[in-house]
Amino acid sequence: MISVEEAYKIILAQAIKLDTINSPFVESYGKILDEDLFADRDFPPFDRVMMDGIAFDYLTFQSGQRRFKIEGIVAAGAETQSLKERQNCLEVMTGAVLPGNTDAVVRYEDLEIENGVATIKLDNINQRQNIHAKGSDRKEKDLLVAKGKKISSAEIAIAATVGISNLKVKRNLKVAVIATGDELVEVDVKPKAYQIRKSNVFCIESYLQNLGVETQSFHLLDDKKSMQEKLRKLKNEFDALILSGGVSMGKFDYVPQVLEELGFEKLFHKVKQRPGKPFWFGKSLEGTCVFGLPGNPVSSFACTVRYINPWLTKVQGLPIKPSYAILNEDFKFKPDLSYFIQVKVECTPGGFILASPYNGNGSGDFANLSEVDGFLELERGKNLYVKGEVFRYWGFR
Ligand code: AMP
Ligand code: MG
Repeated sequence: MISVEEAYKIILAQAIKLDTINSPFVESYGKILDEDLFADRDFPPFDRVMMDGIAFDYLTFQSGQRRFKIEGIVAAGAETQSLKERQNCLEVMTGAVLPGNTDAVVRYEDLEIENGVATIKLDNINQRQNIHAKGSDRKEKDLLVAKGKKISSAEIAIAATVGISNLKVKRNLKVAVIATGDELVEVDVKPKAYQIRKSNVFCIESYLQNLGVETQSFHLLDDKKSMQEKLRKLKNEFDALILSGGVSMGKFDYVPQVLEELGFEKLFHKVKQRPGKPFWFGKSLEGTCVFGLPGNPVSSFACTVRYINPWLTKVQGLPIKPSYAILNEDFKFKPDLSYFIQVKVECTPGGFILASPYNGNGSGDFANLSEVDGFLELERGKNLYVKGEVFRYWGFR
């Protein structure tokens, strides 16, 4: 049996190559950018007026003149214009191109306008005030977003601005989420007294989809032959298989045996943790990873959050950013196992993240999950975990 840290290292070492595909930029939220984005022109592309008001010649103002005859109006989107007489001004709107022969803008709030003449009510102004200079944000050909970034709304705005309607992105990971067990029935079926509805696959699928994974779900019975046939086929169609159930000590827990018979290499079986001790992990010769999670809903979900999430982050080439929280009450736990305790978290006005244990009835008690925000990892090696100590936090909301 290996430690949580060892299991984590083994999982993170399994790389998967994600090829480049094209994606309409508006559908690229959450995907990984697989090209550099450059400025196709200066930003802003022209001296941009930043306030609604008037534009005029600064030196004319400096010489003492305060009353400016209005020559005309320049709207945003209008072609470039020029001031004809140095004593005059042009009304300008935010987003307009700064007119030629002008180099200062004063906003309407600081003006009085009467009979086509604007009077400036200020004594001091600066040359080029309220002007957003051409190229002052970024120059043409500057790198705006580097390859490898996870696309957020900010990158979608940048793609739009530089005129890229199709982005090169990494393809999504394809994962099969597989329930095992003769006792499981479909969601819309009324279970017999000895049956239960399957829930794990939907829990895991929805979680993974939210992380940009393409999933498909399957159900295998506790029968060696059919399990073998199905898994042989699935291992060639997916980057990873996530099985739930069938990895413990039961007479019908065939998953480890079947996987090894199919040529999967076992990288570990059993981890010093609760929940999720019977966790099996391996890979095929072709590199398909298999996560054999225990069937208990809390166990399989805890393993998904604790191991599969960071593995996906690594596969996507993104940095893994650990979270931490402060244990908010003393907690006793005797076994020599790391304990993923279910916690509610709150951020205090002082900026501390407090994690309050909210314990249910063990790893079968999935209803408890709805009351909590994530798992606090109480590392093995102690019996008493003291209020105020800091631990790794694995949130799922
Ligand atoms: P196992 O790991 O196969 O021994 O299953 C442990 C427990 O989890 C059993 O009570 C199963 O009925 C339950 N279980 C297994 N798979 C699922 C599933 N997909 N959804 C809900 N419960 C499950
Ligand atoms: Mg089972």
